Formats: sequence, C-alpha cells, structure tokens
Amino acid sequence: MDAKAGTDWKREESNALKIVLERNVYEFLSKLKPESIEEERCGLLIGVKKGDFFVDEAVEVRNVKSSVSEFELDPVESLRVFEYAERIGKEVVGVWHTHPLWKAYPSQKDVSGMKTFPGVWIIISRSEIRAFVFEEGVKELKIEVR
Ligand SMILES: [Zn+2]
Repeated sequence: MDAKAGTDWKREESNALKIVLERNVYEFLSKLKPESIEEERCGLLIGVKKGDFFVDEAVEVRNVKSSVSEFELDPVESLRVFEYAERIGKEVVGVWHTHPLWKAYPSQKDVSGMKTFPGVWIIISRSEIRAFVFEEGVKELKIEVR
C-alpha cells in the first residue's frame, strides 16, 4: 500500500461516497436477510471501483466457520471468484455477509477484517442492508440501486 500512497491515490480512495448496485444484486442481497438464528452467509461483490463502487454481481461463497456469529470465506471458492472476475475484465470490489444476530453494523471482528480485506463491506441484517469502508476508521456508504 505504501508504494501507492501518494496524494492522488489518497484523494481517489476517499472519493467513495456511495455504492451503486444493479437491481438484480440488490434483490439477491435482500433475499438473504436472515429470518432466524441461522448460520452467517457470505460472499463477494464483483464490479468496478471508479471513485464510487459499482457492483453488478454478487456471488455466494461457503462460510467455512459455519457459525451464527462469524464468517470466513472458503479460500478455494474465493479464488475461483477472483479468477472469474479477472476473466470478465472486472474486479472483486468487496465482500457481503449476513448478521442473523445483530444489526447491520460491523462487529469488532468485521473491523479487523476490513483492515486486511479492503474494499466495500455489505452487511445484511434481518431488517436492513448497509455498506461500509475502512478509511482511517469505519465509514458508511450510501447505497444506490439502479
Ligand atoms: Zn459481521
């Protein structure tokens, strides 16, 4: 990161004010709202980052933790998603996961995860969907559907 940490790069990174979801992605994520205390579900977001985040595909990846309170993306399945994104000329711009127990805000563990897996983090609780980035702290992004 340090090698790229010029002023321009910094300005570009902090420009992200919103995340734009294709309607089919929003509908997919909405259907994932937990209805009971079930295991957390998780996956990756494919699209582009041009100042803001643009997501046109959400892919589910196995939660190797099989837990109601935490998740960890299956590394083999994740690699396939990264390869797929590259093949279609896009990138993995973030991660999504569900919160069957909590509100749609990052847990302590999520915040550590955000530091090692940069990009946008979408959290889906029983009642809402929220998006966050970590830039000198956790910041919420406005979600736009198109
Ligand atoms: Zn979480």
